[in-house]
Amino acid sequence: MSTMRAEDTDIEELRVVAVAHCILNQSTRWWKEGKRLRRGMVKKVIEALASMRIGAVQMPCPEFSFCGNPRPSRTREEYESLPGFTVHCRRLARDTAENLKALTVLSKRPKIKIVAVIGVERSPTCGVKLTPYRRTVHGGFEYREAKGLFMEALEEELRTLKIVVPMLGLDLKRPENLIAEIKDKAGR
Ligand code: SF4
Repeated sequence: MSTMRAEDTDIEELRVVAVAHCILNQSTRWWKEGKRLRRGMVKKVIEALASMRIGAVQMPCPEFSFCGNPRPSRTREEYESLPGFTVHCRRLARDTAENLKALTVLSKRPKIKIVAVIGVERSPTCGVKLTPYRRTVHGGFEYREAKGLFMEALEEELRTLKIVVPMLGLDLKRPENLIAEIKDKAGR
């Protein structure tokens, strides 16, 4: 007995999101001796995408591919002054934007729609609305409303390629907020 549905053979549009690398692979998140390890995927987000039948394109991890682990935590400005890191982000952003462009241009039918680009809040590199800009006296960070270095470069590259796509940020403490935003953007 076939389980194929009509929508499986008559699809006008397929939907994907571009996700920060560590949403699918948390092993690249910054780590230092004594810090709790994060493993696997950000399950709630992946499960929600799967249930909405939205694919995930994994973007590169600029910090891991430049610094590896263990690496110190840094503010956006500290990463900005790390020789070569901004250029590294720009190069990765250009490649990422071109990959996303190829997905949309090469998909004649069914069309592939990029629903959103998803970063990670509080990251100096992948933050969308929140990025650390200053250290507090207690050793934490103060955050401001700004993009991280990679997201900023990616926004610019996408604009150059005339790709209009919303940028959303995953707050690891409240993944349900991101899931609601994806549902909204995907029209569900
Ligand atoms: S937020 Fe960005 S830079 Fe940080 S671990 Fe995730 S993918 Fe890498």
